[in-house]
Amino acid sequence: MKRLVVGVDIGNSTTEACVASVSGGSVEYLGTALTHTTGVKGTPENTEGAVDAVRRALVGARRSPADLEIVLLNEATPVISGLAMETISETIITESTMIGHNPETPGGVGLGVGTTVSLDGLAGAPPDEPVVVVVPGGWDFDDVAVELNAAAERGVPVVAAVLAHDDAVLVVNRLRTPIPVVDEVAAVEKVPLGMHAAVEVAAPGRTIRTLSDSYGLASVFGLDPEQTRQVSPVARALTGNRSAVVVRTPTGDVTDRRIPVGTLTLTGAGKTLQVDVDAGADEIMDTLGRVQPLDDATGEPGTHVGGMLAQVRDTMTDVTGQPAVEIQIRDVLAVDTFVPNEVRGGLAGEVALENAVALAAMVRTSRSRMQVVADEVAEALGCRAEIGGIEGEMAVRGALTTPGTDIPIAVLDLGGGSTDAALLDRDGVCTAVHVAGAGELVTKLIASELALEDREVAESVKRHPLAKVESFFHIRHEDGTVQFFTEPLPPHVFARVVAMTPEGPAPIPTRASVDHVRRIRREAKRRVFVVNALRALRQVAPRGSLRMLDFVVLLGGSALDFEIPDLIADALAGHGVVCGTGNVHGNEGPRNAVAAGLVDAHAGAVSG
Ligand code: ADP
Ligand code: MG
Repeated sequence: MKRLVVGVDIGNSTTEACVASVSGGSVEYLGTALTHTTGVKGTPENTEGAVDAVRRALVGARRSPADLEIVLLNEATPVISGLAMETISETIITESTMIGHNPETPGGVGLGVGTTVSLDGLAGAPPDEPVVVVVPGGWDFDDVAVELNAAAERGVPVVAAVLAHDDAVLVVNRLRTPIPVVDEVAAVEKVPLGMHAAVEVAAPGRTIRTLSDSYGLASVFGLDPEQTRQVSPVARALTGNRSAVVVRTPTGDVTDRRIPVGTLTLTGAGKTLQVDVDAGADEIMDTLGRVQPLDDATGEPGTHVGGMLAQVRDTMTDVTGQPAVEIQIRDVLAVDTFVPNEVRGGLAGEVALENAVALAAMVRTSRSRMQVVADEVAEALGCRAEIGGIEGEMAVRGALTTPGTDIPIAVLDLGGGSTDAALLDRDGVCTAVHVAGAGELVTKLIASELALEDREVAESVKRHPLAKVESFFHIRHEDGTVQFFTEPLPPHVFARVVAMTPEGPAPIPTRASVDHVRRIRREAKRRVFVVNALRALRQVAPRGSLRMLDFVVLLGGSALDFEIPDLIADALAGHGVVCGTGNVHGNEGPRNAVAAGLVDAHAGAVSG
């Protein structure tokens, strides 16, 4: 007798369903479907998404819900991950010593060093001292050029100019001797006069070299080692710009302040260790390694970490109804990152890359409420619904349907919130671990490092290769190859860095180059998934040794990524492991392993 069975895998991000017709021990797969998970994994809110996925899978398989015998749900490991990010350094420039920005079109090229003089006072300037002319708002570019030419005629060495408006090129084109000119300086009236200043403009496509270099600044302003140390954050904030101005004010001071983020207390393996979060990710992960398996993590109250972990616990309380004190943090992943922050004391909205740390934390609750979901699914669909198996075991079962795999086998399920590893050994024993941090964290790192406000744009940067639209008829892909089009590309992508989505090139709102965006994307993936793949596999591998593993199969949504599987395979290659992307049933790819495993397990159990 043929029975219609659906396996359903409720994940943090996605709910997947797999329909099959089971007869005795043999299984015929009829179709699959996926939807967004509704609510937090392991809670009754999941019912809606689960029912939706089942209905859609049935429609795809052209079967009626009336014929459905049973729905099998995964016992969701009650792990939920939370994310928080805090800056740990801050650049503050007192006495406004710096303007460094990236107007689209600065004028001229080169470095000019002199004393700042207002254009209004240029007539009285002595003819022996080099001057940097500061042009207040309200001046017309023609008049500016006339004044600058006249001063040069009188023998005043005009070496550079700073403008309020966007007309540097117009001014430079009218000068008899071109000089570097920076424009779009909104707070031009705040530029101190009578001070030593330097203006640097790089050629198109280049970035400045002198003012973005600590020793360059020291050479220009004759700084001693202590002063050089003080201005090094200025150099850092100017790096990558096409133009910059630095004004040295006698009392000017730059501080690179470290914001205390607090200490993280990690308890496990009978030990309690503390680590300063601003010591960085490596230090935190090292300390974590010494207290594995982690029993709990707490942050110093009243500090950033305290707040970060409290937030995770609060979410869990809301979700599970369990009191906050009962909720234990069983894993953390720390990642060094940086956030572009506007510099306090800057004049033109300059940004400095402030160091930050991102923490993903994972909690284990004492109860999963999957049984409630099963009861509600049964009622909604009018059939039986059961918890058919534990996630990790089912994933291994599904992964084993990938051609070319064999026992012992390890799977890495690269999901949205957590990276899960499971090992099935020759004796049929399955061990599983869950570590914090996965696809969501990658998206979040990309968003914050590129200052992208829209999460969907960051998700798109993560999922698609980049290109630069170089003309209306051609683009240059990130690998350097050029593609031509017969129809003109839409104007809104012209000269932009774009993500090559299946719908066509989508502009990314950033001034960063293709290479810079690419580097950020790959680094974010490496810092989350390579780090997590290695530490999760070490926890399931016999004697903690990766050499003991034979086959590693990558599963989950993030295994669909165009480069994550390669990054992981590269990291594992040195350990003699066969690593590849799962292909469930030889045609499903890395998705649906758990849902398929549930169906297979059910068929196996029924046939005995
Ligand atoms: P879960 O099991 O936790 O529900 P999934 O296995 O559905 O998670 O994986 C969700 C993650 O996979 C998300 O972070 C999402 O960005 C990522 N993802 C899904 N499709 C792709 C893709 N084509 N390329 C890269 N990442 C993807
Ligand atoms: Mg999953």
